[in-house]
Amino acid sequence: MAQNITWKAAAVVAAVFVAAGGGGFYLGRMTALSSSKAETELNIRLNRSDLEYLDQVEGTILVTGHKSPDTDTVSSSMAYAALLRELGYDARPVVLGSINSETQYVLDAAGAEVPELLEDAAGCNMLLVDHSEYTQSAEGMQDANIIGIIDHHGDGSITTGSQLVYDARPLGATATIIWIRYRNYGIEPDRQTAMLLLGAILSDTYHLKSSTTTAADHEAVAALSKIAGMEDTDAFYDAMYRDAISYEGMSDKDIFYSDYKEYEAGSKKFSIGCVNAYDEEAAKDLAARMKPQAAASLAETGMDLAFVQITILHDDVSITYLVPCDDAADEVLETAFGDRAAADGTSYVLDPGISRKQVTVPAVTDVLNAYPKE
Ligand code: MN
Ligand code: MN
Repeated sequence: MAQNITWKAAAVVAAVFVAAGGGGFYLGRMTALSSSKAETELNIRLNRSDLEYLDQVEGTILVTGHKSPDTDTVSSSMAYAALLRELGYDARPVVLGSINSETQYVLDAAGAEVPELLEDAAGCNMLLVDHSEYTQSAEGMQDANIIGIIDHHGDGSITTGSQLVYDARPLGATATIIWIRYRNYGIEPDRQTAMLLLGAILSDTYHLKSSTTTAADHEAVAALSKIAGMEDTDAFYDAMYRDAISYEGMSDKDIFYSDYKEYEAGSKKFSIGCVNAYDEEAAKDLAARMKPQAAASLAETGMDLAFVQITILHDDVSITYLVPCDDAADEVLETAFGDRAAADGTSYVLDPGISRKQVTVPAVTDVLNAYPKE
């Protein structure tokens, strides 16, 4: 009986071997493996060919994010400059202002230095990350040689006659696009760069909770946390978030400008400053303090309208407070959000909260475009 079973098993193995074409079965598998490797190498070569135009660029390439730098802007510029250096180009990151306490926390965790401050971009080779608006970019950008834009916002006012990589993708963070570019170029970020990119994605997506979060952001966080040796991203994010909402030692004016952006629509210029709060009490306190700052900013900046967007977003809470600087700004918010927000006298309160980029900017833009031109 035992012998019979052994013979049957041997017959099955032989039949499979013959059916698969003898050695061809194994040969077939090897061919498939090596062609996928060749395919990967071809993809890397094709992707890297979109950097060959940089051979024509003379001098250093400066990689910059936007004014009022946030963690995504700073980390993305550092990581992309590191990628270009890895591929043999002369590139370095710059910042357009002092960095916030959350970004400092991430830089410290990565063991990285703050990039140098750029005062004027005129005459420089500029590669922009995390923005594409002149109003949000460096002084002198009109007279710079713009050779690249990598961004996850709408396409802004910046144009160039030069050849460029314009990589705009609707992902949760510019850092996620940078991570994808590392992959496409066949390069693994080092531990420091992985930590910077990880902090940036956690920051921009509120730890993968914001409405802007995509599957790519989840994949990037999983891959980067492994490289960075950061197993507990919850604790890392909590520490970042605590620094982001502490505003310790900052004046009301510093807080207002800490995540501040300018836009244009119709014949109007408007700004939105974003602020984070831990709970309702903190949000209401910030709303009362930021309203006069927003009003004072009009004279300083030449804006027609200013808004403050206060966000509570952690665990299962998601609320946005929109604060107008004056009656004209109030009218815009009433038109844009009156039917879906609760008004508390100072703010329009939206629950669940909204994204500045996805909801507030388009809604305010629509209202201003509908205004009669003056
Ligand atoms: Mn940003
Ligand atoms: Mn960003």
